[in-house]
Amino acid sequence: MPPKNSHANRFVTKVGPTTDPELKSWIDSANLPDCDFPIQNLPYGVFSTNVHYAPRVGVAIGDQVLDLAALESDGLIETGSKQSIFARPTLNSFMALGPDSWDRVRKRLSALLCRDEAALRDNAGLRRRALISLSEAVLHRPFEVKGYTDFYASREHATNVGTMFRGPEKALMPNWLHMPVGYNGRASTVVVSGSDVRRPWGQIKPDGSNAPTFAACDKLDFELELGAVVGIGNAIGEAVTVEQAQRMIFGYVLLNDWSARDIQLWEYQPLGPFLAKAFATTISPWVVTCAALEPFRVAGPEQEPEPLPYLRQSSPNNYDIQLEVALRPNGVEHATTIARTNFKHMYWSSAQQLCHHSVGGCAMQTGDLLGSGTISGEARDSYGSLLELTWNGTAPLELGGGVTRTYIEDGDSITFNGWAEGEGYRIGFGECRGAILPAHPLNK
Ligand code: CA
Repeated sequence: MPPKNSHANRFVTKVGPTTDPELKSWIDSANLPDCDFPIQNLPYGVFSTNVHYAPRVGVAIGDQVLDLAALESDGLIETGSKQSIFARPTLNSFMALGPDSWDRVRKRLSALLCRDEAALRDNAGLRRRALISLSEAVLHRPFEVKGYTDFYASREHATNVGTMFRGPEKALMPNWLHMPVGYNGRASTVVVSGSDVRRPWGQIKPDGSNAPTFAACDKLDFELELGAVVGIGNAIGEAVTVEQAQRMIFGYVLLNDWSARDIQLWEYQPLGPFLAKAFATTISPWVVTCAALEPFRVAGPEQEPEPLPYLRQSSPNNYDIQLEVALRPNGVEHATTIARTNFKHMYWSSAQQLCHHSVGGCAMQTGDLLGSGTISGEARDSYGSLLELTWNGTAPLELGGGVTRTYIEDGDSITFNGWAEGEGYRIGFGECRGAILPAHPLNK
């Protein structure tokens, strides 16, 4: 279903000083047009190296990581905190400082990396200590995930799944157009890109059988999502507005909400997914900030019926972010792109989801992760899961060389890429990748 709003592609905000397309860095690799990490991006992550083991906060710039702990100890950036904020293994302390600090640090980093600024450019000693090649960096999970909530906000995805299991007449549940539907997932199993994922065990009820068996998942799937990272929270009992929620979000990561479809089908009624989505959730290593994405804010689809007053938005809160999914089958050298879509089509925005999450009095916290829900477009090749791409296994994907897939097999890897396309630059996320290990040999 296409977005009804004719302004869906409109750039709505002015370019700020850190997102000016004309900005160039003295780090040449950051100025290449297809670079994921130009000076306009400045995404935050946590890294270490084989010679400096302590994980600390860094920013990706071109093909380098800039060590913010090193800049902080040399007095080149300051956060207003008396304690070190960046010599830490997570982004949580920095995020908790709030939007004014995020803005101040971003402007300082943009200035330090700008072509005409000499403070770091001409300080060879500090440059040697503070700039590390991305190829030598070990990337860690960038923040401590305090809570993980997964939503279900793509009308196309909800319609496809509902059609498959309930028929086209009852595809959307009666509540779907009135609230961002979600469930509380597991923060403990959120892993960073590159981590292997083990095929889960669980209860599965075979077709035609009256009783379940205990077996390894046979219908292992991915879900293409973005994760909104909550930077600052709200007190218990204090609801936030959509506008406040928008300012509480620090940034976004790519998110793969791995799903065991056969386990899910047997367990999900009446309380929703449980073990089928609790074995692993993979996120990309760089948190792309809302500040970097600001030029790409667009209006989402028109919401009809109009949401209840607390969920209405006065600003465009969707983002124009292009997304791709690639599958590399076990033993095959090359991956095949199996889906392309865009985050801008989502029916409910992350700000609406965060607002709705808080309205009953739930305290949201620094480091909460909100999965957007599977991002599917209208076209068959824009679906964000194998459940949809193969229509629950009835239409296998042809991957070339005679290789086909319905669901993910052992040794296969799934890679997401995402980027916002600017004028002469792109705001990339870096990849979100995971390979599947065989199920653990349990004593049944
Ligand atoms: Ca999901």
